[in-house]
Amino acid sequence: RAKDALTETVCFYEVSMDEAARSRRLIANDLWQAVERNELQLHYQVQKAVNSGDTIGYEVLLRWHHPVRGTIPPSDFIPIAEECGAILPIGEWVLREACREAATWNNEHKIAVNLSPVQLGNADVADLVHRVLLDTGLSPHRLELEITESTIIGDKERALQTLRRIKAFGVTIAIDDFGTGYSSLETLRAFPFDKIKLDRSFMSEVEASPEAKAIIRAILALGQTLRVPVLAEGVETRSQLDILLDEGCDEAQGYFLGRPMPVERIRPGSETSEAA
Ligand code: C2E
Ligand code: MG
Ligand code: MG
Ligand code: MG
Repeated sequence: RAKDALTETVCFYEVSMDEAARSRRLIANDLWQAVERNELQLHYQVQKAVNSGDTIGYEVLLRWHHPVRGTIPPSDFIPIAEECGAILPIGEWVLREACREAATWNNEHKIAVNLSPVQLGNADVADLVHRVLLDTGLSPHRLELEITESTIIGDKERALQTLRRIKAFGVTIAIDDFGTGYSSLETLRAFPFDKIKLDRSFMSEVEASPEAKAIIRAILALGQTLRVPVLAEGVETRSQLDILLDEGCDEAQGYFLGRPMPVERIRPGSETSEAA
């Protein structure tokens, strides 16, 4: 009878599970095999100095070409990968692939790789970074890791320790999506970061909202005081870029400067394809 009850419960669970939950489970299954099946691809988005227009580097953005579902955006599968643990092999693949690629470039451009809080919570990530740098021969100062404010709130002490080890190699750390999280200014003070990436929500509102502009100014002042450059994300128009120039923002990234694209289109000699 106990078994019947269990079966009933399980069946009830199955039918009441909504489409979203079902599709999450299917995606999680497929994610574990995505690396081996060669379904993952990296796109590269240029990051430029606002003043000179010089290319500073490229952010690496993951794309998943699912054989049946087509291309799935990272916002749809990264959270699932974090939940089921597949982010560890996937994150390792991203890091290795990006460093291997950048090491072949005949320039000093940096490569910015997003690091999941789950990866940072994993004790081995500093060793992994070290090993990948050795294996690929990329000089450490050309690697930047992007982490979000939520990472800092998680297991703060452990995250700090890991980041200090990584920084000791010469790798730099950027705070991603700054201004949207919950981190306190105190956390910021204690945190060993090298760049602030201003969340793109401020850019999209800068022209219509004096408040957004005031916040951008305040964060630029903060960056100056802490002596770390500020990069504005999500720059889509010339006039947004002009505002950043006026306000003294250091770096910018966004569709106006270049969309994320496959590596063939950003390799040296193909700069023209960067134009928006
Ligand atoms: P993010 O790190 O903040 O990356 C910037 C996102 O903004 C990218 O979305 C990029 O395509 C988009 N973007 C760039 N310029 C513009 C613009 O001018 N306008 C607008 N509207 N959007 C712009 P994407 O590629 O969909 O990635 C979304 C998020 O997924 C990333 O946000 C990052 O948090 C995560 N992600 C992507 N690749 C990886 C990865 O390899 N590892 C991890 N852990 N997370 C990743
Ligand atoms: Mg990022
Ligand atoms: Mg961002
Ligand atoms: Mg983001």
